[in-house]
Amino acid sequence: MRKNIVAGNWKMNKNLQEGLELATELNEALKGKTVNCDVIIGTPFIHLASVAKAVDLNKIGVAAQNCADKESGAYTGEVSAAMVASTGAQYVILGHSERRAYYGETAETLKEKVKLALANGLTPIFCIGEVLEEREAEKHFDVVKSQVEASLFDLSADDFSKVVLAYEPVWAIGTGKTASPAQAQEMHAFIRATLAEKYGQDIANNTSILYGGSANAGNAKELFSNPDVDGGLIGGASLGVDKFMPIIEAF
Ligand code: PEP
Repeated sequence: MRKNIVAGNWKMNKNLQEGLELATELNEALKGKTVNCDVIIGTPFIHLASVAKAVDLNKIGVAAQNCADKESGAYTGEVSAAMVASTGAQYVILGHSERRAYYGETAETLKEKVKLALANGLTPIFCIGEVLEEREAEKHFDVVKSQVEASLFDLSADDFSKVVLAYEPVWAIGTGKTASPAQAQEMHAFIRATLAEKYGQDIANNTSILYGGSANAGNAKELFSNPDVDGGLIGGASLGVDKFMPIIEAF
C-alpha cells in the first residue's frame, strides 16, 4: 500500500546519549498526535537497539542506514540484515549516494543488500539519484532508470512491492539546493512509469516514492503536494525535533 512517509537520516551524527535524547523527544512530540504520514528515523547502527526500545514503534519506525551484502561470517566490521532486524528496526536505507560515492557501493552489492534486507523482514528504503553533471547533460532520467533496473528489477513483484524508493538528486543533498517541486514531480512520475512498465500499474501506484535533498520545514508542503511525491528522506532537518516535526506536519 502506498503510504506517505517522512524518514529522517541522521547520517554519522549524534552519539548514543544524544541520539536517545532526540528519539525520546520526537516520541514525546508525537504522543497523542495523529499525523498523516508514517514517521521513520534512520540512526547509526549502535543506536538501533536502544532507540527501538525508547520509542513507540507503532508511531516511529526505526531504520539502519546500511547493511552488509553478505549473510554472516568473516566480514570484520560489517553488520548483517539479520542483526539489524534483531534490534527491532524495521527498515534499512540502502544505496544512499554517500555510500555509493565514498564507500564504492555498486549496483551489484546493492542488489545483494536489498535481497538480504527483504529476506530478513526489513523494508529497504532504496535511494537513487543523479549527480549535477548528469542532470546538466540531460542524462538524469537514464541514470535513475538504470539504478532502479540494475539493483531492483531482479526482484519478484511480491518482493518489489515491499520496497520504498527515495529519489535524491545528489546535487541537492546537504547543499541547501532543493529540486523544484516541478523537477521532483517530473522525476517521480517518470520513476512510477518505469515501475509500471516492469511490474504493472497497480504495483507502481502502490509504491511510495520519497524525495530527498535539502527538504525542510519551508519547502516540504510544496514538495509533498505533488501527486507522485509520497514524502521525504530528510538529512540535516531530521537532527532536531523543532525542524523535523514541521516536515511531518506538512502532510
Ligand atoms: C539525505 O542525506 O538523504 C538528505 C536528503 O540530506 P539533506 O536533507 O541534508 O539534504
